[in-house]
Amino acid sequence: MSKYIFVTGGVTSSLGKGIIAASLAKLLQARGFKVTIQKFDPYINIDPGTLNPYEHGECYVTEDGAETDLDLGHYERFLNVPTSRANNITTGRIYQHVIEQERAGAYLGKTVQVVPHITDEIKRRMLLLGENNEYDIIITELGGTVGDIESLPFIEAVRQLRWELGNNDSLVIHLTLVPYLAAAGELKTKPTQHSVKTLLEYGIQPDILVCRTEHKLTHEIRKKLAQFCNVNINAVVESIDAPTIYDVPLNMLKEQLDKTALAKLKLSTKNDPNLDSWKVFLGKLKNPTNEVTIGLVGKYVELPDAYKSIIEAFVHAGANNETRVKLNFIAAESIHNENVQEKLKGLDGVLVAPGFGERGLDGKLAAIKYVRENNIPFFGICLGMQCSIIEFGRNVLGLADANSTEMAPETQNPVINLMDDQKDVTDKGGTMRLGAYDCELKKGTKAFASYGKTKISERHRHRYEFNNDYLKQYEEAGMIATGINPITGLVEIVEIKNHPFYIATQFHPELKSTVANPHPLFVSFVAASLANKNC
Ligand code: GLN
Repeated sequence: MSKYIFVTGGVTSSLGKGIIAASLAKLLQARGFKVTIQKFDPYINIDPGTLNPYEHGECYVTEDGAETDLDLGHYERFLNVPTSRANNITTGRIYQHVIEQERAGAYLGKTVQVVPHITDEIKRRMLLLGENNEYDIIITELGGTVGDIESLPFIEAVRQLRWELGNNDSLVIHLTLVPYLAAAGELKTKPTQHSVKTLLEYGIQPDILVCRTEHKLTHEIRKKLAQFCNVNINAVVESIDAPTIYDVPLNMLKEQLDKTALAKLKLSTKNDPNLDSWKVFLGKLKNPTNEVTIGLVGKYVELPDAYKSIIEAFVHAGANNETRVKLNFIAAESIHNENVQEKLKGLDGVLVAPGFGERGLDGKLAAIKYVRENNIPFFGICLGMQCSIIEFGRNVLGLADANSTEMAPETQNPVINLMDDQKDVTDKGGTMRLGAYDCELKKGTKAFASYGKTKISERHRHRYEFNNDYLKQYEEAGMIATGINPITGLVEIVEIKNHPFYIATQFHPELKSTVANPHPLFVSFVAASLANKNC
């Protein structure tokens, strides 16, 4: 039977519950346990797919095509195990299911209520991943902060589950903040005491406190926290600000978070955690022998979380190349043909990011023209690829109004067109081409050289595609489709032959990059940027 660890958050949001959950999972995995992580989000959207990245950061897409919270990206990057639709549940999905059941007559004669119907459905979902005995341990992260109105049904579901599962099969970790008051020169425990009190009011005694802090917790502070929050002193875990998120598993190992959790779950510690490859990665990350500067051109650059997976994919690929990758975020709207040289000055490579809508389109096209003509390594992703097609159409093929029908529905040269199966779609939620699809690579191409094989599978999130009516014209002019969906013929990758590195993909390679498996296209893009710098 699976054992359950629940992770709640107190005092403030943004304490990094996802990273703590992923770090603990990493340590347990490294000891030989089969672990997965799921996230329950208290908002009413069915999924974050309809949210603006400014609200919620990146929308992470799973293999099975779910649009999910960006924390699932951390889980995959740390554990190197894919997640699925079942790993991210929102209040909206819980209510949708219960209301559908109600209409179908499942509760005939009964008043449908938050308790027990909503909480029962939350519990059912919390236990779902444990049904096939696939996992020894399931970590459940609760979004939001304890005390929020919208988290209450989730907290109540955890309370009931703890009672049902018993103490040996479940535990609660409360992630909290121990702030430092510079004027007093002191760490303060009161916010944590209050947050634990709130949890106690809801009937939950946390087993472990993980304390985010800017300064080391002294023995006295640990003792005070333990005493006032009813936990053992070894269950007070310090989570000090770390230079990178990838240090956190090792910090948690030092604090013995994994051992404390296993002891509470009455599980043997199995092996010592094997973190050899993780440490090799960290060693390379921290001791780079080279440095490159890469420009990330996009429209949400004020909020780097909007590009979380791309940023992390560069961390993995940088370490793999023993190269520090400095990312310069450049607002697409700020680029024009007149200032493009100035804007892209000093960059060893340029990535044009995914996105939606017209804002910043001209800037992206100006950047792509510049890197194409000046032999600067270029990597386009999704909308970035579509922009590269538009730019090539306009400036090389002379199709002055080449465009995507997303931006210009009436264009005479729709080089990017709505996919056929999107034409009757009116709903916005969960209706894009989502998730993993196969792609076949042509031999003798840069894509093939990067992957080292012809059959790949990558994840998607788009409605528009390259218009194959133009393919011949593009290929004759030197832009080649080097990756194609074997079933539909959809162009997945384009390259320019006579360019040191020009690759653009319709899929999102960043979603599959992990510490254990840095993405081959990011690895070769960083290598090409380094080669460009050195010549
Ligand atoms: N807006 C484009 C489309 O829907 C690209 C999407 C993306 O970059 N994720 O096809």
